[in-house]
Amino acid sequence: MNTTSPSQLVLSRAQDASLRAAAENAYPAECCGLLAGTGEASLTLTQVVNAANIATDPQRQFTIDPQVHFDLLRRLRGTGERVIGHYHSHPNGITGLSRQDVAMADDPNAVWVIIALDAAQHARTPLAFVCPAGQEPMRIEIVIRP
Ligand SMILES: [Zn+2]
Repeated sequence: MNTTSPSQLVLSRAQDASLRAAAENAYPAECCGLLAGTGEASLTLTQVVNAANIATDPQRQFTIDPQVHFDLLRRLRGTGERVIGHYHSHPNGITGLSRQDVAMADDPNAVWVIIALDAAQHARTPLAFVCPAGQEPMRIEIVIRP
């Protein structure tokens, strides 16, 4: 069990671009997907895995297709990588977690990446959070490696 709460998420320029593209392409719906990675306090993102948003109202909420989660867990078995969290976009431009997001948070070690769109539907810089049970979400640092 991982007891070290993450404080940093390291991603590549290509992964940053891929998260932004997912957010822009899904507009006006929310995009969503899973993040695979390694590390504990400092997490390194290894894979951005897009998933269908199967929420009943995908313009206001997200639900990651459970089959994608299942397939990823299976694919990561024995690789040293694990599911470190997930991402989704906010077409309404809100940069932090919504009240609904906080209500869904059930894993204090899961990283939440939010990609908010600006008024011109361009993706802002993704932000990362952890959401300890019963607490306000805490923003963690995103480091883009060259
Ligand atoms: Zn949200």
